[in-house]
Amino acid sequence: MPELLYLDHNATTPIDPEVRAAMLPWLENEFGNPSSLYSLGRRAAAALSTAREQVAKLVGARPTEIVFNSCGTEATSSAILSALAIDPDKRHIITSTVEHSATIKLCDHLATRGYEITWLPVDREGRLDASKLDAAITSDTAVVSLLWANNETGVLFPVEEIATITARKKIPLHFDAVQAAGKVQINLEALGVQYVSLSAHKLYAPKGVGALYVNRRARYTPLFRGAQEESKRAGTQNVASIVAFGKAAELAQEHLLANAEHTCKLRDRFEQVLLSTIDGARRNGTDEPRLPNTTNLTFSGIEAESALLLFDKEGICCSAGSACSSASINPSHVLTAMGISRDEARASLRFSLGRTTTEADVDRALEIIPRIIARLRAARPIDGSPVHVSA
Ligand code: PLP
Repeated sequence: MPELLYLDHNATTPIDPEVRAAMLPWLENEFGNPSSLYSLGRRAAAALSTAREQVAKLVGARPTEIVFNSCGTEATSSAILSALAIDPDKRHIITSTVEHSATIKLCDHLATRGYEITWLPVDREGRLDASKLDAAITSDTAVVSLLWANNETGVLFPVEEIATITARKKIPLHFDAVQAAGKVQINLEALGVQYVSLSAHKLYAPKGVGALYVNRRARYTPLFRGAQEESKRAGTQNVASIVAFGKAAELAQEHLLANAEHTCKLRDRFEQVLLSTIDGARRNGTDEPRLPNTTNLTFSGIEAESALLLFDKEGICCSAGSACSSASINPSHVLTAMGISRDEARASLRFSLGRTTTEADVDRALEIIPRIIARLRAARPIDGSPVHVSA
């Protein structure tokens, strides 16, 4: 087996050893229910409080504004559904064409229930023009839900401008910051957004735990009813994973600038070498503002799926589109929404670096990737159509 070369940190991240160590006691002797009144339970409740403080600090919020739940998808659904439930007469939702499937699938479903959805477009570089949001808001708009950072291209949306517009028009605003948290600085107190989705597994903590930030001045009605999480999200909390989320948030906060600098330096070298040495290679999405760890590249004439299989044989993990869509052969909805042709989108790969990625990893990737691209292109039929390689 070749050594693993993991370049897919936007799909998920490995658990940090310090995070694992922090969570272990909560999987062993410290098994109390945080709602129990005896000391075993009270210690679990105290651990949740610490984690709440750590996650709040990462995003510049107050601990009371952090509601733990099962994942980023739940956070997004609960924010949008809460806004709709609070103002049932309003039937219009504004989002964008390049959202994560968590938002797209929910909005598609709501459209079948009679809600009107405005899908804001992006330009060829994946950028959102906030004036289009301003123009789309009507007296019927119940909620605006937009990405902070795109998971496929890393492109950042103009969150301050967006929040200024929704505040002026008094429309509840939700940001999906699942990819942004821990990679770029976030200060929710200064922003004045109502709801923000977060997920632990993009932060070197386990899967299956997330949080919704609910601004203390925002109205909120829960998806699950019961006592936990100040009645905002019922269900006995996943203490070990929440402790891990807290520790991961603390580490992300402490090393945010250093990690961003580290991944950005490696990403830029990786991207620049591939773009300058492989004919017909092109970056998708603007250079800036963008997450420091992400690059999305088209290698015309290849089929991304075939590249993934050949990369896998060499230990390289990356993705074609988002992890959720990479098992299907449909081209990425993000890239096609940017005006990239379906063929070009099918020839595109996302590489996302992480804090454990090294210079040697990049050197190895730069040796393997051009070789595989050349091999795929050489195997192309005479008509130039991409070759399909099976596993
Ligand atoms: N939003 C974005 C931008 C994501 O990248 C993801 C995960 O890929 C999610 C939401 C969903 O998060 P979770 O996997 O915790 O449900």
